[in-house]
Amino acid sequence: RGMVKLRSVKKIYPNGSCGLLDVNLEVKRGDFIFVTGPSGSGKSTLLKLLYGEERPTDGEVIVDNCNVGQLRGHKLSLLRRRIGVVFQDYKLIPRRTVTENISFVLWAQGFTHKEIERRLVPTLKLVGLQHKASCFPEELSGGEQQRVSLARAIVGTPPLLLADEPTGNLDPDNSASVLKILQKLNNFGATVIVTTHDERLLRMANKTVVQLRDGQLFQG
Ligand code: ADP
Ligand code: ADP
Repeated sequence: RGMVKLRSVKKIYPNGSCGLLDVNLEVKRGDFIFVTGPSGSGKSTLLKLLYGEERPTDGEVIVDNCNVGQLRGHKLSLLRRRIGVVFQDYKLIPRRTVTENISFVLWAQGFTHKEIERRLVPTLKLVGLQHKASCFPEELSGGEQQRVSLARAIVGTPPLLLADEPTGNLDPDNSASVLKILQKLNNFGATVIVTTHDERLLRMANKTVVQLRDGQLFQG
């Protein structure tokens, strides 16, 4: 039982741009892999197919035993709750505090107030932001904002965590702390897929790396 399986996946965008070309990939439960490759090689496309933001033109995208390309509406939302996503630009809600940004997801999923409280503090601790709980995003450094976005991605304990260039805007120290958090989650059992072209991050992490070039995947 793998966590992610791509079978002959092709993604051609409506304007004719090639996102991915015949990609095969298997990621087992509990794996931690990096997807690297130059800008425009298809890294974001790969992640978008995994969380159902885009549909494959051809082939199958299987996540947690679901055929993502065929899910619609409520079924797609249910799968997305099981996938945490982190972006290079954080995507925090500006006029909401750290606590609100993190609990919003749980609230939207119908968690009780009590359950939200129960999850919030350990998650804030995990990312080292207990002391910033009442701050607004603009009051935080880039590294702190990225840790809030990590907290938001993981507060629902998703079995799959996707991160698209999570250290793209961060200095080496902040990149290292983001990596540490990702590794900790992986140790707790989450499957982690990270896109990056940060060579330093790849060296530091020493995990499996797959390469994309012009929409094609090379392993090893
Ligand atoms: P990366 O994340 O590696 O930079 P992307 O997956 O963003 O690569 O892009 C892969 C290719 O698909 C690029 O040629 C890009 O221009 C194209 N592409 C990505 N998103 C879209 C879109 N929404 N519409 C058209 N082309 C797109
Ligand atoms: P858009 O589709 O243009 O991203 P949204 O209404 O989805 O706009 O999002 C508005 C803001 O809320 C964005 O900053 C976005 O990142 C954030 N947001 C969206 N979904 C969630 C979520 N599930 N949890 C926390 N913040 C979210």
